[in-house]
Amino acid sequence: MGFIMDLPDNLKYILSALENAGFEAYVVGGAVRDKLLGVNCEDHDVTTNAKTEDILRIFSDCKIIPTGLKHGTVTVIYNGSSFEITTFRSDGEYTDMRHPDKVTFVTNINEDLARRDFTVNSMAYSKTLGFIDVFNGQNDLNERTLRAVGDPEKRFEEDALRIIRAVRFAAKLGFSIEENTLKAAYKKLDNLSKLSVERVFSELTLTLCAKHAPFALDKYRKIFFAVLPELSAMDGCEQYNRSHSYNVYEHTLKALESCENVTPIIAWAIILHDAGKPFTRIVGEDGFQHFPDHWIVSEEIAVKVLTRLKAPKAFIDEVRFLVLYHDNLLLGGKPYLKRLLKKYKTSYIDDLFVVKKADLYAHSEFGIKRFEPYYEKSLKEYREIIENDECYSFDKLDISGDEIKALGFSGKKVGQLLGVALDAVIDGKIPDEKDKIIEFIKNYE
Ligand code: ATP
Ligand code: MG
Repeated sequence: MGFIMDLPDNLKYILSALENAGFEAYVVGGAVRDKLLGVNCEDHDVTTNAKTEDILRIFSDCKIIPTGLKHGTVTVIYNGSSFEITTFRSDGEYTDMRHPDKVTFVTNINEDLARRDFTVNSMAYSKTLGFIDVFNGQNDLNERTLRAVGDPEKRFEEDALRIIRAVRFAAKLGFSIEENTLKAAYKKLDNLSKLSVERVFSELTLTLCAKHAPFALDKYRKIFFAVLPELSAMDGCEQYNRSHSYNVYEHTLKALESCENVTPIIAWAIILHDAGKPFTRIVGEDGFQHFPDHWIVSEEIAVKVLTRLKAPKAFIDEVRFLVLYHDNLLLGGKPYLKRLLKKYKTSYIDDLFVVKKADLYAHSEFGIKRFEPYYEKSLKEYREIIENDECYSFDKLDISGDEIKALGFSGKKVGQLLGVALDAVIDGKIPDEKDKIIEFIKNYE
């Protein structure tokens, strides 16, 4: 039986319930991998020879979500935790590069493990039957290697998403892709164009947010650029300038590495922030290279890439904002920041400071010294605005439309006066105090 895995109680309950009903039940895939690596795992996938109707019956007291009935997957919510339970299956052909045309339910755990992508993801553990590792996943785990289960070319032909998943797991685990697996991945790169963009976006996002993303995107850039050709011009694009010590792609990966607060939106903004640089490069009178207005071209590229990948509109909107403003030194002080706050959500500005910081610390020593004071100053101003709840919007302004009406104004004039009053408060000409605002309005014009 080998070693005994320490499993969370809720998972033990799920496995026992299946076994008590006469079925085999294993925790499988990422949960086993992460357990062996000693890292915490949130999702527990369970595989069993019980069929969907058996699973529904066994867990009839639990909330059940029919996640993928056609593929034999249901999600069981037990005691606040959710478990994806899938009947043993082997996948058929993927002629559309998206979904298996049909899944075949099988009776043996080994056949189920054979359909899985990488050996480190193909291990299973049962409470009674122990650890099942037919593809030597544990060995590859010790060697920090991602090796396709079976013939890599065939596996990537079946589902080209596995090529991106190889980079995703390199980014998550800091592992390297085994030589033959990598060769096969490169050989099948053309198949990536046939994938559904939603699947690509989801795997890419997981990749960008993963701990070792800079390592994986450096080492496996060929795969990355195959799905994001718009970014390939950054590779090797030098920037001879005192403020930089890296080329554009290296700088971008450095920025991702120095980012302290990666979210999907921030990760995409960082990866795209300088994508316009290769298209705007000039040599200035100072003899250095410059990239005038590169943020505008980067924004265009961001919109193109994320629209093609069918990212949600709100997602694209924020990434656009972050890319467009990433290089802005925010020299206009509090009034400028307040106008940004008036126009955009606070969360956008919070994220902008995260992106700007990541970008800043991916410059040369000289560049960091040069730009750090601007960053620090604007961050301090921004924090003050938020902490002091300073006025930057109509709802914070200490006067309402009705109160302006009560002064004898009507129609469009009311809105216009609200606007000039807010501008005056934002610019610090008058304090946000009702009597001062009324005085200002009375003297206006
Ligand atoms: P994570 O913890 O990052 O979610 P994971 O290993 O759980 O990692 P999932 O994408 O959740 O990854 O997939 C669960 C399991 O299903 C994988 O471990 C793998 O065994 C299998 N799997 C998922 N997608 C594929 C695929 N496209 N081809 C083959 N097997 C796959
Ligand atoms: Mg998972």
